[in-house]
Amino acid sequence: MIEEINGKTKAGKHLSELLVNAYVDIHTKAAKGAFVVWGAIIVPAEIFRGFENMVFCAPESHSATCAAKGVGGAQCLKAESLGYSTDLCAYARIDIGCLSDGCKESPTMGLPKPHLLVSNTNNCSLLVKWFDIHHRNMNIPHFILDVPFCYGQQREKDLQYILNQFKDLIDTLEKLSGQKFNKDKFYEAAAYSASAVMDWKRFLKCAEHRPSGITVFDSFVQMAPFLLVRGTPELAEHYKILADETEENVNKGIFPVPDEKYRLLWDNIAPWHQLRKMSKRLAGMSANIVAAPYTLCIGAVEGSYDLLSFEQNDDPLWYFARIQNHSVCPQGMDLRISAMGTIIEKLGIDGVVFASNRSCKVFSVMQMDEQRRISEKYGIPSIMIDVDHADVRKFSEESVYIRLEALLESIDAGRARAST
Ligand code: SF4
Repeated sequence: MIEEINGKTKAGKHLSELLVNAYVDIHTKAAKGAFVVWGAIIVPAEIFRGFENMVFCAPESHSATCAAKGVGGAQCLKAESLGYSTDLCAYARIDIGCLSDGCKESPTMGLPKPHLLVSNTNNCSLLVKWFDIHHRNMNIPHFILDVPFCYGQQREKDLQYILNQFKDLIDTLEKLSGQKFNKDKFYEAAAYSASAVMDWKRFLKCAEHRPSGITVFDSFVQMAPFLLVRGTPELAEHYKILADETEENVNKGIFPVPDEKYRLLWDNIAPWHQLRKMSKRLAGMSANIVAAPYTLCIGAVEGSYDLLSFEQNDDPLWYFARIQNHSVCPQGMDLRISAMGTIIEKLGIDGVVFASNRSCKVFSVMQMDEQRRISEKYGIPSIMIDVDHADVRKFSEESVYIRLEALLESIDAGRARAST
């Protein structure tokens, strides 16, 4: 990570302040009577910015923060003691466990009590069930966005189906909150997010440089504002600072792994409890995981490397309906393979780390086939490791590093063969 070599960067400091301020703002506004929405991270938060007195919280993001701050396993245990299976996604177990004792150990003092829950079906069905638990326990209405899976280019009828649901969501918000949706405010929020996405891409493109200007861990850490403050000027400002600073570092020759010998790709959600440790240990092996489809997919459609241009159209609702399936989970195998293949070629990837995630079955279920197909098509080595993105109890550090070392040896062996 660039901060490991540089002390806290300008963007790093800005990120910490931004996140603290965001949680303070959420709690303050909620205490003063704002309408509180808990939404899935893919739900377009910009819609909520179209209302005068409404705040948006993402339980998935709060769970990731708990995991990154080292309290994920303890929250999972609390949920398990209530009878929830360890096989359920750790995000859900952390959230349920946290709520069970009034969020005593939450690094953000939990989330304010919601007036509405908004989930969606495209990432996983577990999320809908998880929000349904809150719906029953807190007696809060639950709006479910039904988003068709994505096996190729989005069909017009699917786009219209999503658009109609967005309009229903706006009507529901107006009815429940007693507030009027302000289109201009919403358009402004969409423009902030579109600008942030362009700078995000500029930041990620620093991985094209050799050595890479970033590690995947930098991009995992820097995702947080997208989940917390989408549709705000603070979001746009933050990603401009990040992209400018990272490009400047590349121009000055400042790199997180200056002796980068192995350029790797990570496939799955971030292992939140391991970011700093893993980035340090890999850097010591001259290895850099430079990218992940998980972070590269933001703002893109159907696994494309390039962003969907926001300027192409005038209607932000259309744009958000179009990118509803930007994340990896709702994409079919062919799209995933082509997205990964483009990254391998663009970034000159030497090997792939498939992280089979105990929590996120929907991300992991295809990985063995993906691994085989990537190996057949690109001839690069890969490994499959066992992780859990948020439950540290299911992570065995040493067995993961044995496989990582084996991957680097395979890359060396391939290079030696090629040079004879
Ligand atoms: S199972 Fe995967 S997609 Fe579903 S909530 Fe957990 S991390 Fe998200």
